[in-house]
Amino acid sequence: MHTLTTTDIARLFRELASTIAGARDELCRLDGVIGDADHGIAMEQGFTAASKAIEALPEESTLADQLNAAAKGFLNAVGASSGPLYATAFMRAAKVAGARHAVPLNEAPGLIVAMAEGIRSRGKAEVGEKTMVDVWAPAAEAAGQGMADGLSLAGIMARTQAAATAGAESTRLMVATKGRSSRLGSRSVGHMDPGAASAAIVLNVIAQDWVRHGTD
Ligand code: ADP
Ligand code: MG
Repeated sequence: MHTLTTTDIARLFRELASTIAGARDELCRLDGVIGDADHGIAMEQGFTAASKAIEALPEESTLADQLNAAAKGFLNAVGASSGPLYATAFMRAAKVAGARHAVPLNEAPGLIVAMAEGIRSRGKAEVGEKTMVDVWAPAAEAAGQGMADGLSLAGIMARTQAAATAGAESTRLMVATKGRSSRLGSRSVGHMDPGAASAAIVLNVIAQDWVRHGTD
């Protein structure tokens, strides 16, 4: 039985930090069109801090310790609105993972469901408001449905990735009604939401990591 261990979580956060760092300029460019051009920097600093906070934990730490440390690190590093949103996401995932050193890999998609719920409850945005919720909500829905349908981890994550990518694309046609870009009103139409773009990257990294690990 494949498991998701504390070593796997530490590796996943290193991958998230490096992939997001590579996307920093593009995310800042997207945020420059409908926001204040800092989203790439916020996400890079947040994931770098989250990964470092995990690396600094003692060996015997649990999955919940790691995800709570990631939340604290992310929140302290990021002044922008994405800070509390991702911090809440990681705290919800910590609750689901619990004080364990490993969870069965087929329970892992439940962490995505928990993260999405955290983002929705913290930011109070609904689908269609041109935010990261337009990626997290359909991705979590696909993950939950895939688990309920008894799909393999690869099958669940393929659906999750597809939902995330489609969700990010769907924000191009939306008018922003939450967050900084809502000030633009209909002028926000035609551009992908930066938080949705980064959410799709995050979910793609998670999916690829878990599928690779689950089929080792
Ligand atoms: P700021 O807008 O403070 O500069 P960032 O640039 O880091 O923050 O993040 C902007 C992104 O945050 C937006 O593109 C959007 O996806 C997301 N966002 C803003 N407000 C909310 C909210 N209430 N709920 C969910 N996501 C939100
Ligand atoms: Mg911004």
